[in-house]
Amino acid sequence: MYNFAAGPAVLPAEVIKQVQQELTSYQKSGMSILEISHRSSLFTDLQAAAENDLRRLMRIPTDYDVLFLQGGATLQFTMTALNLAKKSGKIAFVDTGHWSQRAIQEAKLLPKVVPEIIASGKENHFTAIPKVPKITADYDYVHLTVNNTIEGTMYHQLPAALNNQTIVADMSSIILGYDYQVTDFDLIYAGAQKNIGPAGLTVVILKHALLSGIPTLPAMLSYPKQVKKHSALNTPPVFAIYTAGLVFKWLLKQGGVSAMQQQNEIKAQLLYNEIANSSLYRSPVAVADRSLTNIPFVTGSDQLDAEFVADAQAAGLMNLKGHRLVGGMRASLYNAMPLAGVKRLVEFMQQFEMNHGG
Ligand code: PLP
Repeated sequence: MYNFAAGPAVLPAEVIKQVQQELTSYQKSGMSILEISHRSSLFTDLQAAAENDLRRLMRIPTDYDVLFLQGGATLQFTMTALNLAKKSGKIAFVDTGHWSQRAIQEAKLLPKVVPEIIASGKENHFTAIPKVPKITADYDYVHLTVNNTIEGTMYHQLPAALNNQTIVADMSSIILGYDYQVTDFDLIYAGAQKNIGPAGLTVVILKHALLSGIPTLPAMLSYPKQVKKHSALNTPPVFAIYTAGLVFKWLLKQGGVSAMQQQNEIKAQLLYNEIANSSLYRSPVAVADRSLTNIPFVTGSDQLDAEFVADAQAAGLMNLKGHRLVGGMRASLYNAMPLAGVKRLVEFMQQFEMNHGG
């Protein structure tokens, strides 16, 4: 069976197996990972190793801090604005669809924060990444949703107009799947439950220099306080960090992020080619902006789409129903989806098309 869910999503089978094997006794301690103290060296060593491995994978420079927080990417919509809209209070947003809009809505709720949309894909129903105009106003930062999980678009390159801007990026659905340069960004955040590990962990990578001038905030919402306490102001999500650490080791064994990107390009191309060559399926997304990790497609008939999803599930191809905002189908091809899973999906698509007069 293959799981094409957008999140919580597929994890490497080897990692799940290792979790199972170690579950009753972590490193021969006689205690389960679910039971160990977050103040013990068992945990602090594990967290340090996870951070080091993530630094290696993403080539994170030493002048960036790495945080393992909770609250999901959604809390980062608030936390980024609360901490970083600290001078003019103005934040520039590129509106690329649902998750950018959620980030804008949350920023709007904060006093003294003024979100402004500098570019929007609304006119073409978010099927392409909009052109970003030259920035003239004095924004505290520009917010981008790097991969749009629902609409199936991504930035393959950062807009030239954003050179020299402070950039905050939501990378939830593509972190570790595409070899972005960390140094192109000032802050990166991602909910773990797609390409990193179980839900309950949120990774934040931020340039240390950003910490100066941040107002005093409640501890859990303050980047400076979280950095100072190494993400352990309160009890951290030990199991989620442990599992993420295993995924990082698995990724290093696979050859790291550039190897994952290559593999993800092969997988995505296989599916996009099938869509292009078929007379039944269609991708609504502009070719230049197509996501490697979330691929929506439609038949043009709601009834046929529903039949496709049901038949696919019966054939062991799970969670292919498109997001309710877009309809149709969506295949999420994260790092842990093997090429064999995409080949199975393509075979199924061909069979389904033949059965329906293709
Ligand atoms: N941002 C993006 C791009 C997402 O895909 C999601 C969830 O799917 C979120 C934010 C919200 O993440 P969370 O559930 O971790 O708050």
